[in-house]
Amino acid sequence: MTKCSGMVSNGWHSYQCSKSGKLEHEGKLFCGLHHPPTIWKKRAEKERQWNEEYEIKRKAVNEAKALKAQTERRAALFPELLAALIDLDKRLRECEGPIYALEAYDSFYQENVADVIVKATKE
Ligand SMILES: [Zn+2]
Repeated sequence: MTKCSGMVSNGWHSYQCSKSGKLEHEGKLFCGLHHPPTIWKKRAEKERQWNEEYEIKRKAVNEAKALKAQTERRAALFPELLAALIDLDKRLRECEGPIYALEAYDSFYQENVADVIVKATKE
């Protein structure tokens, strides 16, 4: 039996692997653990998995950042909305009938709401 050409170390000494060589590489025989192309293939697969996991994490972080920014943008609009709401309440109380109320609401919407909705929904 031809032994594996791979080297193993116990931390103090390195010596030839005691397993039998079954896989050939550049004229030498190796066991499954020390066969260079097998090692490279495993390494490439680990790297591919690492990159895949990194990409998933990166996407999640970016999504969380975007959500945070959107939440902050919307929260910043709150005083503007509150002021508009108080203004609407005042206008509606001053109306003398439903038709006037509808007109008041329509102008209120054009002046305040449409713009705020655009600001709140933009990415
Ligand atoms: Zn070996």
